[in-house]
Amino acid sequence: MKSFEKPFTQQESIPEDGIARAVEIMRTGRLHRYNLAEGELSEASLLEKEFAEWQGSDYCVACTSGGYAIALALRLVGVKPGDHVLANAYTLAPVPGAIQNVGAEPAFIEIDENYHIDIADFEAKAKSSHASVLLLSHMRGHIADMNAILDICQRYDITLVEDCAHTMGAKWQGIRSGNFGKVAAFSTQTYKHMNSGEGGFLTTNDPDIAARAVISSGSYMLYERHGAIPEQAHFDAVKYASPNYSGRMDHLRAALLRSQMPLLEDNIRRWNMLYDDLHRRIKAIHGITIPDRKQEEAYVGSSIQFRLDDIETSDVPCLLKRLASRGVELKWFGDNEPKAFTSRYDSWRYIKDMPHLPKTLKVLDKTVDMRIPLNFNLDDTALLADILDEEMTSY
Ligand SMILES: *Cc1c(COP(=O)(O)O)cnc(C)c1O
Repeated sequence: MKSFEKPFTQQESIPEDGIARAVEIMRTGRLHRYNLAEGELSEASLLEKEFAEWQGSDYCVACTSGGYAIALALRLVGVKPGDHVLANAYTLAPVPGAIQNVGAEPAFIEIDENYHIDIADFEAKAKSSHASVLLLSHMRGHIADMNAILDICQRYDITLVEDCAHTMGAKWQGIRSGNFGKVAAFSTQTYKHMNSGEGGFLTTNDPDIAARAVISSGSYMLYERHGAIPEQAHFDAVKYASPNYSGRMDHLRAALLRSQMPLLEDNIRRWNMLYDDLHRRIKAIHGITIPDRKQEEAYVGSSIQFRLDDIETSDVPCLLKRLASRGVELKWFGDNEPKAFTSRYDSWRYIKDMPHLPKTLKVLDKTVDMRIPLNFNLDDTALLADILDEEMTSY
């Protein structure tokens, strides 16, 4: 019997120039982003400038994590303790965590069978709730119909915050994810599209939000040492009123990320080559449903989701075990018990008014997820699909 040998959690090496620069920085001891020798340029600040240029946003703040960037974004758009924040229910634990962290409550919205926020339920909840913010996770890289979302946001005066943890580099109708809302958050945690271990970005085109983001990220009064910031006047207006919620990126992580920036576009191409091959092969397997990707969407296929629609829910654990014994690691979003990174909304039991979302539960019930590391090749995707096909035929 064939089995798959490669790990699903292997990252690519940090590029050599990034390693060299990191070592150089360690030799100087000046790791803190504001600790600069005379005339020295800050890695963190250069990174912010380069990321903002690449992303096509006016401003960028590098910070400690994606979850930090989301929580800060929520504060900056005015979320207050006790508020409700609209959010698609299919997401990862740091998203409701960020909402809870600012003292607010998530108001979860259903998803549809294509893993997008359910537009009709969004409109219904936009109307019925008092929430004024939508925190939209482009979960697992699936970008919803952004025209419909922006239309509802406009009609109900809702501010959009985008969680782009899985869509760095992805686009909807040619516009990069993160450029639709008032503020966007990105993660550079190891399993995302750039890897600094931990890290994140907040981007925006709003100069007042940008100035507050810089100061609140913990800039003390050294905000001028940031690379993608608004004019001084915007800082003068907010610098005494913005609390310091310490969450800065350091030079070491910034150096690792700067060396990866030039590879991003090519990595997206490599991910999609693997993804498209897997999608085509998995689609052909009997008993599996895999949604087609929308033509408007330029995704980054760093993971793949599909549904085991023809097998019983109670058989899913057994199938996954058999696949795992042959080296194929799938995560199950339908599991009642949260495991590792994978959890379902109803396992976040600190949420006060836990909603019942039948549509979301039905879609997730048989949804599984496979990571697509860049060290896989087209022989690997063929083998993975073969093993999946073989195991599916026994159900
Ligand atoms: C990883 C992730 C985050 C948060 O990123 P961290 O950098 O780990 O805090 C937010 N949203 C989603 C959907 C994620 O997968």
